[in-house]
Amino acid sequence: MERTVRYSKKREAILSAIQGTSCHPSAEWVYRQLKPRHPDLSLGTVYRNLDFFRQRGQVQSVGVVQGQERFDATVTPHSHFICNCCGSVSDLPGIHPETGLEQAVSSQYGFAVERCKLTFYGLCPSCLHQDQNFKEESSS
Ligand SMILES: [Zn+2]
Ligand SMILES: [Zn+2]
Repeated sequence: MERTVRYSKKREAILSAIQGTSCHPSAEWVYRQLKPRHPDLSLGTVYRNLDFFRQRGQVQSVGVVQGQERFDATVTPHSHFICNCCGSVSDLPGIHPETGLEQAVSSQYGFAVERCKLTFYGLCPSCLHQDQNFKEESSS
């Protein structure tokens, strides 16, 4: 309990840093954001608190992108697009897994599906355009 009290100020700052961005940050990102205002913050504290929030269902993990685990304060099921080039993670609020998919898993494999998450991988618009510019430059 003492630990909880001791860390509560930083804990609040860590949670609001994640809630205040849509970039699906890594622990390192949160650490770099908060370090100037919390000079005694350690990366280990950020990791411990992210774990705490995840266990309580306040954040979810989006998965490991370019070697760093990424976190999301939006815990309702939604789809993501992950850029293979810059590592950006974007929400796709209008894209929902088809209910037919869950039914197929139930009927073909006998699993009771509780939820289903879709993640797409590829190039985000800005990387795509950079790539095109590069191709145009190198072909001329
Ligand atoms: Zn990109
Ligand atoms: Zn998200």
